Amino acid sequence: ETLDKGLEKSKTTFFTKLNKAVAGKSKVDDEVLDNLEEILVSSDVGVNTTLKVIKRIEERVAKDKYLGTSELNQILREEIAGLLSEIDSGNATEFTIPKDKKPYVIMVVGVNGVGKTTTIGKLASQFKKQGLKVVLGAADTFRAAAIDQLQVWADRVDVPMVRQDMGSDPASVAFDTLKSAVTQDADVVIIDTAGRLHNKVNLMNELTKVKRVMQKVVDDAPHDVLLVLDGSTGQNAFEQAKQFTAATEVTSLAVTKLDGTAKGGVVIGISDQFQIPVKYIGVGEGIDDLQVFNKFEFVDSFFK
Ligand code: GDP
Repeated sequence: ETLDKGLEKSKTTFFTKLNKAVAGKSKVDDEVLDNLEEILVSSDVGVNTTLKVIKRIEERVAKDKYLGTSELNQILREEIAGLLSEIDSGNATEFTIPKDKKPYVIMVVGVNGVGKTTTIGKLASQFKKQGLKVVLGAADTFRAAAIDQLQVWADRVDVPMVRQDMGSDPASVAFDTLKSAVTQDADVVIIDTAGRLHNKVNLMNELTKVKRVMQKVVDDAPHDVLLVLDGSTGQNAFEQAKQFTAATEVTSLAVTKLDGTAKGGVVIGISDQFQIPVKYIGVGEGIDDLQVFNKFEFVDSFFK
């Protein structure tokens, strides 16, 4: 799916509400701003980020005295782009990994059902297309289905996967995976880990141990801790981001299922609030439905 198509539902919902809010009004006044605030919050941009955007528009209204509602679209686009520009992320346009880390180790975290396995499969496919040698590690050993589902993707993309039995030590799987990757002279390792939020201390301990054991093989691993969030869950995604960032150092985000949801604003809110780069967005179930998140493309597509 293209970004435009993926964001279609979010856009339609947003602009239907916005058009209603400005109907019969030529000027941006307090009432329009109040409605806009509500619309942004209900689009899952998040309260903090919404308030920032509203404040910026209020300042413009105060300065320009007269702001026409017909300009609101353009103003929103500018202010949201401005907000995202303050975050040093979302500048990439291609799937890339640093050339000086070999193997480059990505540890993937996130709760079940958010699209973790699918995202790993899609990423593996992108890297493989570039001619990179990819190895997957099935360190989510809590559920047999998690291992089998990842195997399906490994077979589909045709990349090797390291696995052990269900219930085995995730750190041991991670260790084996890195060993295997080094032996094979692999470029990228993607490790799936469990995400059981109901036991936070266990989760923290498990992720810490996985990291420590990986460092016995590659001393600065993991190079990226990628948290996968389901964009269609809106505020739940914020909550999960909060909990995972408390349990481990998360270095980047993937927001999935933006197709078919009206909650696309979640990408803007999460980028702003957590100051962690959104690196990838999922816009469909297919193997090519993962995109590198580019804030300029995103804003352009949304406000087109
Ligand atoms: P996991 O339990 O987190 O590993 O989740 P899975 O990768 O198994 O994904 C759960 C479901 O979400 C599957 O049916 C996927 O096809 C679907 N899914 C994952 N990413 C996306 C996406 O970007 N868009 C849509 N529409 N579905 C997705």
